[in-house]
Amino acid sequence: MTAKAVETHEYEVVIGLEVHVQLETSTKIFCGCSTTAGEDEAPNTRTCPVCLGLPGALPVLNEGAVEAAVKIGKALDAAIPERTTFHRKNYYYPDLPKNFQLTQYDAPICQQGSLEISVEDQTRKIGITRAHLEEDPGSLQHKGGNIDTAEATLINYNRAGTPLVEIVTEPDFRSPAETRAFLAKLEDVLEYLGVFDATRDGSLRVDANISLVESDEVEDDGSISEAVLADANRTEVKNISSHKGAEKALAYEVTRQKNAVRRGREIETETRHWDESRGITVSMRSKESEADYRYFREADLPPLEVSHWKDEIPIPELPDARRERFKTAFGLDAESASKLTSTKEVADFFEAVAERFDAELAATWVADNLLGELNYRDMEITDVESRLEEFQRLIGLVDSDEVTVKNAEEVVLREMLDSGDDPETIIDREGLGKADDGEIEGFVLEAIEENPEAVEDYHNGEGGALNFLVGQVMQKSKGSADPGSVNELLRTELAE
Ligand code: ADP
Ligand code: ZN
Ligand code: MG
Repeated sequence: MTAKAVETHEYEVVIGLEVHVQLETSTKIFCGCSTTAGEDEAPNTRTCPVCLGLPGALPVLNEGAVEAAVKIGKALDAAIPERTTFHRKNYYYPDLPKNFQLTQYDAPICQQGSLEISVEDQTRKIGITRAHLEEDPGSLQHKGGNIDTAEATLINYNRAGTPLVEIVTEPDFRSPAETRAFLAKLEDVLEYLGVFDATRDGSLRVDANISLVESDEVEDDGSISEAVLADANRTEVKNISSHKGAEKALAYEVTRQKNAVRRGREIETETRHWDESRGITVSMRSKESEADYRYFREADLPPLEVSHWKDEIPIPELPDARRERFKTAFGLDAESASKLTSTKEVADFFEAVAERFDAELAATWVADNLLGELNYRDMEITDVESRLEEFQRLIGLVDSDEVTVKNAEEVVLREMLDSGDDPETIIDREGLGKADDGEIEGFVLEAIEENPEAVEDYHNGEGGALNFLVGQVMQKSKGSADPGSVNELLRTELAE
């Protein structure tokens, strides 16, 4: 491509992702070692002959990992084949003691699915080429420098054998922002499925492939032919560990590639490393091709008949469907419906509250009050899940007029979260029980007696005077009176 051509050409950004997801099983994929790190765990303590790759050790497939993969396949609308097989992907790397990774090759467990995303009110369907099961390698720790400059490197095999599902997309993304939306959506779906823990460090790792295609190669319907895609030189950016990271790394890479092309340089097909702290990608190596890996069938794992699992393994209602149902079944607006389906736990909590109260009241209390107060305290719904019953009692007290909305929101709920006490205890302690009618009448008479000027102003037709007197009564009742009835009582008393 000449520099002149570049000046007159526009480019379409083309991106495809390979997403590695750690499955939340209790044991590793081919042995019984635990997948969860204890606090301050020592290196190489969760290991056995299988995940250390010792000679003669035989893999046994973890049923839970297969189940999780089937759930993911169903959620991504993918085909689950009749049978699935395992292969050895051969390469030498110190974190891979067998010198091959057990993975899947030509019969992956999930094939041809899709996931719909929305970016700026536009929905797009992203094709999923495949999703396959494999084992995570161990981890390396470089001492006294980075991979190039370290004096020594330590190897920890605790992670080795953690089950992964690698989800490969079609090159369907047209901007870094779309990849971010996709990864956020994917995470939501995985969490709803209960197969993934986003809070675990390194539980989602992304390799992003990116190329520039001349705009006149793009068909009218926005598609790009296989031949053009295959022909485009692309870089694969590794070491991305978050949605934000993906968007940033790809935005950097778009600029880098466009600048290179503008200067008349060819984009090299290569693997690049995302350096999060410096915010740049750096060249790692020329890209290896499939043939380099000498894939061959793992003879120690028989083919797995898996097609019938699809019917036997249920999946929960997914975020999109649940959001739509919340709109229609509970009459929620789009914003509340989104908030209340942000996680499965929030949605479950809301539904439990909505079972006992009017949906609008439940939505206000969960979406606005509770989530707001939790967010302010850096807490999650999971921190209060066990207090559902107490929370329901609080709404019940408001609903039956035993405490005012204002006191319930601004005092009782906050105290519940801060002190851990139950609503009744707090209402008692703070004297927030709604004053009875006799008491309020007493306050009304007091206010009239103590404020003769306001009473005179009221009789002279000054509108503000009544509000002032209402305020006085509210103060006396410590907010436990209902302003509407105070207003009415005052009018009656002042008319006499
Ligand atoms: P490889 O064998 O090199 O890993 P694959 O065909 O398995 O290549 O594709 C790997 C990833 O590269 C997929 O996510 C795919 O969507 C993406 N990809 C393929 N072609 C392009 C392209 N022209 N630009 C950007 N990404 C691409
Ligand atoms: Zn093990
Ligand atoms: Mg590939």
